Amino acid sequence: MSQEIKHIVIVGGGTAGWITAGVIAADHLSHTPEGIKVTLIESPDVPIVGVGEGTWPTMRGTLRKMGISESTLFRECDASFKQGAKFAKWVTGTPEDYYYHPLVLPEGYGEINLAPYWYQHLPNVPFADAVSFQGHLCEKHLAPKQITTPEYAHVANYAYHLDAGKFSGMLQRHCTTKLGVNHILDHVTGIISADNGDIAALTTANSGELSADLFIDCTGFKSMLLGEHYGIDFLDKKHILFNDSALATHVPYLNADDPIASHTISTGQKNGWTWDIGLPTRRGIGHVYSSAHTTDAEAEIELRDYIRESIGDKADELSIRKIEIRPGHREKFWHKNVVAVGLSAGFLEPLEASALVLVELSAQMISEQLPATRPLMDVVGC
Ligand SMILES: Cc1cc2nc3c(=O)[nH]c(=O)nc-3n(C[C@H](O)[C@H](O)[C@H](O)COP(=O)(O)OP(=O)(O)OC[C@H]3O[C@@H](n4cnc5c(N)ncnc54)[C@H](O)[C@@H]3O)c2cc1C
Repeated sequence: MSQEIKHIVIVGGGTAGWITAGVIAADHLSHTPEGIKVTLIESPDVPIVGVGEGTWPTMRGTLRKMGISESTLFRECDASFKQGAKFAKWVTGTPEDYYYHPLVLPEGYGEINLAPYWYQHLPNVPFADAVSFQGHLCEKHLAPKQITTPEYAHVANYAYHLDAGKFSGMLQRHCTTKLGVNHILDHVTGIISADNGDIAALTTANSGELSADLFIDCTGFKSMLLGEHYGIDFLDKKHILFNDSALATHVPYLNADDPIASHTISTGQKNGWTWDIGLPTRRGIGHVYSSAHTTDAEAEIELRDYIRESIGDKADELSIRKIEIRPGHREKFWHKNVVAVGLSAGFLEPLEASALVLVELSAQMISEQLPATRPLMDVVGC
């Protein structure tokens, strides 16, 4: 095995795999002969998790760095603006009960603390509405920028809602056509170890052996390299993060001109909460709940009741997919010449869309700290 890090293999073509490929390939000039070679292999037999439609504002910088035009994102990924999250019925459960987590910081943040002035208006005005204008924009269905505002620039800070499947597809096209990432559609069947315990190569169903200097495990909940091969412990957090199940569905708009919410609507339910994400052509709605406190059937009734409020009895026709969540994370994320990114490293729960930002931060950190040689990997990865 070469001591220099010249070739990186990423296993998994979900959002984690393609974001990691794009960030590293853009930084390390993979489209040039001198650049670091990046290969992404994904299985045609294992679908991506296909959820993860809410992002953080960091995504703007990540996409810009990869050289993706914002118009392409909107056109190809069914994307919409996200200006924060509206938490409905989390406090008293009444229809008037809501507050915003906006993406614009409080007025004067860092210079003046507005909290004492807000106290005078308690309990009538939520904190965010007193110190930030963004919740008011959301309530009025206004965008965070004008049509003339340049790509990625903002008037009010914003992130995106997007179709997770289309997003992976768009990243794949960009990474392979513009950034020089090699793409292999094949199933990884096994692992060949080197004498020092590193992974020397992967065996595949149809493409022979695939060797590399560094392997990035983006195989989702399977965690094929870090979890299954190396047996790195999974630290289960179910005792503090009770939600371990989700039901997800796509909901059509009743009318073509129905408003598209520019914020995630997170509504408290009896044993969990529902997310409601407005895309231009549909809404993505789901119910995250604790299986120790309710049954799948009861959770489904609550979800359909929530959807019925906006589309009536059409709610009963929707097909619903169950996703099991194991809240927790691997004891460590880098072992030997393998680093895990995305669900293979861990997952808490979808509240606040923290998973994709961790993917972005991980990809950035790996790219910035990329060890030049194998011995340095033990320093960077520890
Ligand atoms: C219910 C739910 C809601 C969520 N909502 C949000 C959200 O709003 N915002 C957010 O930031 N995050 C959210 N997340 C998390 C988000 O979905 C994930 O972080 C994101 O999709 C990244 O997934 P991934 O790429 O790690 O895994 P996956 O999408 O599961 O991809 C795994 C990849 O590994 C490949 N693979 C597996 N085995 C093999 C093999 N043997 N050979 C080759 N390839 C293989 C598969 O083919 C696939 O390409 C949510 C998660 C859940 C469960």
